[in-house]
Amino acid sequence: MEKLLAVAVVLAILALGFAVTQLRASERARRSSETLGRRVENLTNRLADLDEERRAMETVLSSMEEGVLLVSPVGGIRLINAAAERHLGTRPATLSGLTPLGLQAIIRGAAADGQTHSLELETGAPSRWLRASAIPVGDGSVLLVVRDVTEARRTESIRRDFVANASHELKTPAASIRAAAETLRTSARDDPAAVPRFAEQLEREAIRLSRIVSDLLDLSRLEGGSDLDEEVALDALLREEAERFQRAAAESGIRLSIRSEAVGRVRGSPRDLSLLIRNLVDNAIRYTRPGGAVEVSVGSENGLMVLSVEDTGIGIPSRDLPRIFERFYRVDRARSRETGGTGLGLSIVKHVVENHGGTVHVRSELGRGTTFVVRLPVLRSE
Ligand code: ADP
Repeated sequence: MEKLLAVAVVLAILALGFAVTQLRASERARRSSETLGRRVENLTNRLADLDEERRAMETVLSSMEEGVLLVSPVGGIRLINAAAERHLGTRPATLSGLTPLGLQAIIRGAAADGQTHSLELETGAPSRWLRASAIPVGDGSVLLVVRDVTEARRTESIRRDFVANASHELKTPAASIRAAAETLRTSARDDPAAVPRFAEQLEREAIRLSRIVSDLLDLSRLEGGSDLDEEVALDALLREEAERFQRAAAESGIRLSIRSEAVGRVRGSPRDLSLLIRNLVDNAIRYTRPGGAVEVSVGSENGLMVLSVEDTGIGIPSRDLPRIFERFYRVDRARSRETGGTGLGLSIVKHVVENHGGTVHVRSELGRGTTFVVRLPVLRSE
């Protein structure tokens, strides 16, 4: 009996020991599965972060104006953004497929000497100018950055032409003034009767010079915009400005009439709008022969203010019409000069109109006359 009890106790101890071992094993398994779960969660979060970073990088690259292309040390294209594809006109898979060839040369150069190589080249049809820089990035890869500089080059060339033209325009009266002053000095001694003639010439050229300078200053101010801070009654302004020309028109044998309907106001600069009216009326009188007529009018049409200056003058050849708003462009240089033109009047007109959110159109028939029509947004009807 005692023996049996002892065996039962031993068996119970063994069973208990086994149960404890089982319990421990299952606890270990639970813990290790928890650790695994946490690791998986961490890994998932890290992958999500990386995905987010990749997407942010793609957004930055695809919204960049600059083209970006990364070339691996063995000549594969590891990355190319949309702008690079746009600028190059292709999506090359390898360095040897990259055109224009000049780009391959600067990339190879940068990879060889570890220095940045740059290049400006013309490509495509219609032609565009690209500025490219090949930048070594350390592991033997080269980053190519490509910018479209067509517009910047165009602006720069316009600026250069303008400076050259302006200098030329200023040089002519300046040289005449110098010559007249010298002649005046010698005439005062040798031929006093000729003095008034040379003094007149001196005065004429000085006036011309100051007109050019004043137009250049107006133009440069207008390039910075107009102060649109007043409500301007265009009909009153037109009457006031056009009236100033009555005497000049009469002296040239030209009938100047002014017609205005009661129209609304425009938001703008009275100073600049006066400049616009003066230039158009002055041109109409200068390019109309004696016996002709100039009619200036203002009215409204489809919610816009319409200002028109119509003459029965010499007209403008149709081939010149697209260029007359350019600075210093003249159909007949001699006539412009004789009548005191600077070649800047219509350029001033165009800037004022654009600054006021309007449009300007011209109709002309050679030998019959010209009409300039300016349309401006109306502020308020009266
Ligand atoms: P300009 O000082 O020479 O008149 P503008 O810029 O005012 O310069 O005008 C440019 C050119 O357009 C003029 O030289 C002239 O050839 C032409 N033009 C302008 N207005 C008229 C017009 N009403 N009739 C004929 N030609 C005109």
